[in-house]
Amino acid sequence: MGTDMNRYRMHINGESVEARRGAWFPVYDPSTEEIIAEAPDADENDVNRAVQAARAAFDSGAWPQTTAQERGRILLRLAERIRKESAMLAELESRNSGKPIVEAEYDMADVATCFEYYGGLATKVAGYVNPVPDNALSLSLKEPVGVAGQIIPWNYPLLMAAWKLAPALAAGCTCVLKPAEQAPLTVLEMARWFADVGLPPGVVNIVTGFGETAGAPLARHPEVNKIAFTGSAAVGKLILKSAVDTIKRVTLELGGKSPNIFFADADFEAAIDGALFGVFINQGEVCSAGSRILVERSIYSRFVEGMAEKAKRIKLGAPLVRETKMGPLVSKEQYERVRAFQELGKREAKLAAGGGRPAGMGKGYYVEPTIFCNVDNSARIAREEIFGPVATVIPFNDEAEAVRIANDTPYGLAAAVWSRDIFKAFRVVKALRAGIVWVNHMQPTYVEAPWGGYKQSGFGRELGPWGIEEYLETKQVHINLNEQPIGWY
Ligand code: ADP
Ligand code: MG
Repeated sequence: MGTDMNRYRMHINGESVEARRGAWFPVYDPSTEEIIAEAPDADENDVNRAVQAARAAFDSGAWPQTTAQERGRILLRLAERIRKESAMLAELESRNSGKPIVEAEYDMADVATCFEYYGGLATKVAGYVNPVPDNALSLSLKEPVGVAGQIIPWNYPLLMAAWKLAPALAAGCTCVLKPAEQAPLTVLEMARWFADVGLPPGVVNIVTGFGETAGAPLARHPEVNKIAFTGSAAVGKLILKSAVDTIKRVTLELGGKSPNIFFADADFEAAIDGALFGVFINQGEVCSAGSRILVERSIYSRFVEGMAEKAKRIKLGAPLVRETKMGPLVSKEQYERVRAFQELGKREAKLAAGGGRPAGMGKGYYVEPTIFCNVDNSARIAREEIFGPVATVIPFNDEAEAVRIANDTPYGLAAAVWSRDIFKAFRVVKALRAGIVWVNHMQPTYVEAPWGGYKQSGFGRELGPWGIEEYLETKQVHINLNEQPIGWY
């Protein structure tokens, strides 16, 4: 490949550009292992150019002084365009990331909804009058934080871009966003519409490239005021360190090892379904995956059997086939990583389903939905984020033990609890150290509700009004209404 037709360009200062050094990297279809496109392989020079553009669009007032009404309308127009082109975007997302087309269609609807939500919220950002004593007027003003650097992962490529861009733009920030090198295509498609919908040049810049060469220079750039990152815990730590020198605002969403807890009194069929959905949706490439399935001892063996039987019937296949429920993993690297955990699991626990590469798939980074039972919570497969369709099923004896095991993890992104006893369910909800807790469901995510982690799953909250707060500073203004001198000296 490498023909001009398949070469995507980045978006810097309103222009469609190549990397200064003229380098490109291949973008794959993980179901065929073939190169489907190339994207600019940006380095520090390109990042500097993008940050400069974002800085100028901010400092000139081109964006922050655009009225909130107008900023909102621009986001709504972008949402409308996304809805119009959603079939094309979903297909491209599915091809590039390997996720089933039906899931990609849901994602595109969520992308549009996210821009609509923050398009509406732009005009609801308001200050406050502080009730200070003295003859004065004291105000709290909300102001945009400045230039936001945004680094995102490959599992929900365009949706993660929306989660980052929409609140930042509504707040009046300008952005430099780096998509993941594995899945940069949909955000580059979207960038083609920025001018049409009325975004001034430099307000959103998209830089494509690898973590060390393009992500790191963005994360340490002195002219960037805030870094928003979603990705691995290891890279999150690097981001946090590189923010130190210029005291950047940082928000991090670093995944987890989320417990999905099943008490014996839960509806059995719904529970089996919820356990599988919680861990296997999007091939398990989900930061909130319910990868530790905690099951009460009295139903444990029946539960494992039920899960295994149903898992074996999950329809694996080409992402663009509508019946497909599980596509390939995103990349060779991720495939090898997950395969290694499958092999490790066979040494650490008992295999109940899957455990390898599915038979008869030919090419593509496919792995079987895999279930390990009799897992001890201290096993590596129960502690490390695998980011693939690998479930660990852990038995517990009672409520106290369930909570103890659930919280025995460095992470704290999400959790779920299944029971028909509301007293027990709500007690567990309160005891769980996690930023998102579902009851009798796992994974539903809404732009109206806060998203983010406790403990080493990161800090800061995305979505809802919480999401826009992370892109705002608070300025205290004191207006003296006394015309006399202070009279102290
Ligand atoms: P994964 O392990 O799935 O690749 P990463 O955390 O490495 O997850 O990637 C998430 C995002 O972080 C991607 O956009 C990637 O390019 C970026 N990234 C990776 N390494 C760095 C780094 N050292 N500095 C900044 N960004 C990085
Ligand atoms: Mg990486």
